Amino acid sequence: MLSLCYIGATMDLVLNAADYYFFTPYAYPATWPEDEPFRQITSLLLVTNLGALVLYFLFATLSYYFIFDHNLKKHPHFLENQVQREIKATVQSLPWISLPTVALFFAEVRGYSKLYGNIEDSPYGWSGVILSMFSFIFFTDMCIYWIHRFLHHKLIYKRIHKPHHLWKIATPFASHAFHPVDGFMQSIPYHIYPFLFPLHKVTYLVLYIFVNVWSISIHDGAYLVPDVLKHVINGSAHHTDHHIYFDYNYGQYFTFWDKIGGSYKSPSSFEGKGPHDYIKKQREEWSSRQNGHMDEKLLNGDSPKNE
Ligand SMILES: [Zn+2]
Ligand SMILES: [Zn+2]
Repeated sequence: MLSLCYIGATMDLVLNAADYYFFTPYAYPATWPEDEPFRQITSLLLVTNLGALVLYFLFATLSYYFIFDHNLKKHPHFLENQVQREIKATVQSLPWISLPTVALFFAEVRGYSKLYGNIEDSPYGWSGVILSMFSFIFFTDMCIYWIHRFLHHKLIYKRIHKPHHLWKIATPFASHAFHPVDGFMQSIPYHIYPFLFPLHKVTYLVLYIFVNVWSISIHDGAYLVPDVLKHVINGSAHHTDHHIYFDYNYGQYFTFWDKIGGSYKSPSSFEGKGPHDYIKKQREEWSSRQNGHMDEKLLNGDSPKNE
């Protein structure tokens, strides 16, 4: 078993594990040194693409089948073959996003970031690790808010960000369906954080998985945030309104920056006017029309058996 100290002391966590378990014994010639730059870039490209696809398909599929309300597909704004289109957009865009991402990962692997592998290297020990998790979320939340607002600027929106707003009633598969430039821009804060602040490699990996799962969760249309945090956490209720009304709720984790930036909107679903309510109302209208139709026929002497 590869010890964490060994991984931390030398190279990036994932790349090292991939080398140890796969690339060195099965893929690359034994003569190719593990720290050769071209080998590192090739491996990072493979690992980044595969990792992103696994994370996306695993968590979006689980969310789609266990959390997403399939009644939403009956909403008039739900597009034909939307799920297939969301998946296609994601799969086409991920390889392009991985190119600049791998450039940054490569810089990390070559030791230019402030990532560390041992707790002894943490400026404040374990409390530093815990603190870095909060600061990572707050820092990236702030950056993404402003980047997302910038992407809504009329000169940029149409070309770069509009593809993500094609999905007015999103499914979990829309979470990564971006134009490549959009997808990369919104991920920049995650990548620059470890170049600016110290961060443990394992923490970074855990946070990396967390942010991907979070992106999926705000597109699942299930409003699972506890009542006390409903106006503090930017959950799927807020992001659903962002997809429908565009100029509100640009945030990622918290509503804080939307409130400061004057773009906060209390989600329509909190007032019984969300997409679920719309479908429910449509259904009720439809069944009351059906009942009325039935009553009319009975009054006219028709037997319900003839229906
Ligand atoms: Zn947007
Ligand atoms: Zn979205």
